[in-house]
Amino acid sequence: MPGTRRTRATASPVADGDVDSSPPASTNKAPPAKRARRSTSQDVKPKIKPDPEDEDDDQGEMGDTRFRVRSSASVAAREATFPPEMVQTPLAKLYDTLRDLSTVKVEEDAKPNKDGVVVYWSRNKDLRLDDNTALSYASAVAQDMHLPLVVLHIFSIGDYKSHDRSPRRIDFQLRQLAYLKEQLAALDIPLYTLTHSGNRKDVPRVVCDLLEEWGATGLYANLEYEVDELRRDTEILERTKRARETGEGWKGQVELFKDFCIVAPGEILTKQGKPYSVYSPYQRSWLAQINSHLGDYMHKQNGPVIANPSSTRSHPVLGSLFSHQIPESIPGFELEGGEDEASRMRRLWPVGDGVTESIMHRFLRTKMRPAKFFEAPLESEADGDVADPKKKSKIGEYCEGRNRVDWDGTSHISPYLAAGLISPRECIRLAFKLAGGKELPGGRDTGIGMWVQEIAWRDFYQAVLVAWPRVSMGKPFNLKYDGTVAWAMDNDGAKLKAWKEGRTGFPIVDAAMRSLKEQGYMHNRCRMIVASFLSKDLLIDWREGEKFFMQSLIDGDLGSNNGGWQWSASTGCDPQPYFRIFNPASQSEKVDPDGAYIRHWVPELRGVKGKAIHDPSAKLTKKEIEKMGYVMPIVDHAKARTKAIEAFKECVASALLHPRDLVTDQSSPNRAAARA
Ligand SMILES: Cc1cc2nc3c(=O)[nH]c(=O)nc-3n(C[C@H](O)[C@H](O)[C@H](O)COP(=O)(O)OP(=O)(O)OC[C@H]3O[C@@H](n4cnc5c(N)ncnc54)[C@H](O)[C@@H]3O)c2cc1C
Repeated sequence: MPGTRRTRATASPVADGDVDSSPPASTNKAPPAKRARRSTSQDVKPKIKPDPEDEDDDQGEMGDTRFRVRSSASVAAREATFPPEMVQTPLAKLYDTLRDLSTVKVEEDAKPNKDGVVVYWSRNKDLRLDDNTALSYASAVAQDMHLPLVVLHIFSIGDYKSHDRSPRRIDFQLRQLAYLKEQLAALDIPLYTLTHSGNRKDVPRVVCDLLEEWGATGLYANLEYEVDELRRDTEILERTKRARETGEGWKGQVELFKDFCIVAPGEILTKQGKPYSVYSPYQRSWLAQINSHLGDYMHKQNGPVIANPSSTRSHPVLGSLFSHQIPESIPGFELEGGEDEASRMRRLWPVGDGVTESIMHRFLRTKMRPAKFFEAPLESEADGDVADPKKKSKIGEYCEGRNRVDWDGTSHISPYLAAGLISPRECIRLAFKLAGGKELPGGRDTGIGMWVQEIAWRDFYQAVLVAWPRVSMGKPFNLKYDGTVAWAMDNDGAKLKAWKEGRTGFPIVDAAMRSLKEQGYMHNRCRMIVASFLSKDLLIDWREGEKFFMQSLIDGDLGSNNGGWQWSASTGCDPQPYFRIFNPASQSEKVDPDGAYIRHWVPELRGVKGKAIHDPSAKLTKKEIEKMGYVMPIVDHAKARTKAIEAFKECVASALLHPRDLVTDQSSPNRAAARA
């Protein structure tokens, strides 16, 4: 596999052809044109037909099944071992369990039968039909086996609660599922959703029972890299193994795939064979890895979803699922603002035909738009394509545009990437095509290269999550700061409340927090400013901010959000040094020089002229500020800065006095601290 070039080969690899890759039996019937080629031996994976849309492209290793096989966690489990730092991680344990499962053969009578069904389990992060590794594979298996495909999606309320999932992201998910249901129905594939309100630890049992009830021959899903999700999947594998051993319960095939990242976590390691904890060398390896295996990473090799036979409509198990309705909301996660908010979210973050294509087209081919985008980042305007998109489009101007919150300079694709309405591979494919060279650019000297670097950040933070799972358990990456920072006592919660509501008296902070409230989205620069303000100026524990972001964002993603917060709070890997504290007023001048963003989001300040908009209390009296309906700063930045530096300095000093392996000690994550 491309990503394991630097990982060591496993001492006792599980032979190909073990139970988990047992294919459908071969038949003599010629496959129809769009069908995946039938497997002919026990250890052959279904052959994936390339997507016809991509046939004109220079596809390199196009049509090769290796990408898919390499994307399978079962195959990865056979080929790779983890470095010592990672052997205790939930991903390594899942791989071990996959190996164990493949040693237990399925009894003859449990082998695929003609009445069975093939199940693709759609997760919260892969809500698309196109370029979806597990779905494409499941579809090919279904074709090979002449069995119908069914799509399962589970709403686990317990998981949503413990992961602080935002109602907006759930609403987005529900809207997309309703859209997918129609798309799938046109292919005679039912989409069934199940709302699980009981103990979230029961999800594996619920799934296995359902698979048994449906007579499923196999379960196919993309991996999710968060601790709870990896443990859930491991439990499913263990249950399946027990069932194979005892003959009781569901015992079909399980295949998990690497899909959420371009380069999957654990696939690139330092020369010393360790996971990267610093972004720049990671990004260089990441780019080199992609460029040396363009055929694997870049070209579309996940075949299209193939229709079920129309007889599926009268299938004894699946027939009734076609009339199943996608819920309009999930209990406890309704939008607070009711129909007003729902229609705003629909307008701001639409789903449906051609949406991601048009967002990417706008970013790659058109120029930045005037400030109207504050109201609706994606709303269409009649701006045609620019003549020289490599330089003059938004991506062309991204080096500068990404730093201006008053410009329409970023893609706004994050909600779609976080929930998987577009694949990350598609993002870099589009960037690659626009660049027009032989390699994917990833340098800071061009807009395209700089944007590709942002996509690398997304992969980096997933890799950190996997290698140091404690970060998803409320722990700092750098254990120097574990329980040692003297966070301020905000006993009445007034300061945290003011921050959440955008009433801190720091205009750029307040503008950003109000945009979050209105849109479920915030510009990256603003995320950095408000996170620094909370964790340094207010010296409030960054976990409060991380949680509030997850509860409010439409693009909330544990890896990126945790990474961003720990970067800002200086507790993360490769973080902002603790002594470099953002000055909100000077940041404001840099990112919003004319104050257009502030004036839009903080209308009380619309009348303030010139530079005073960035720091009104420096120029205006308390009376003048209050008369405008605005508030005085809740903290003195200069004093707060000194206090924060002192607090962090003490942790550093104490770590020097009591040295221990602070960064790599992850063998026994503190379960008590887990949010679960
Ligand atoms: C405190 C904090 C919290 C954050 N929380 C999230 C989050 O929950 N979900 C999320 O997707 N991003 C998060 N980010 C990263 C970043 O702010 C958003 O991805 C970006 O603002 C989305 O806007 P865009 O799609 O226009 O980005 P673009 O600038 O167009 O970037 C393209 C894509 O690259 C990825 N990306 C960009 N910057 C980063 C980054 N710093 N880290 C990881 N991925 C990145 C995103 O997928 C983004 O959509 C956070 C950053 C900070 C500082």
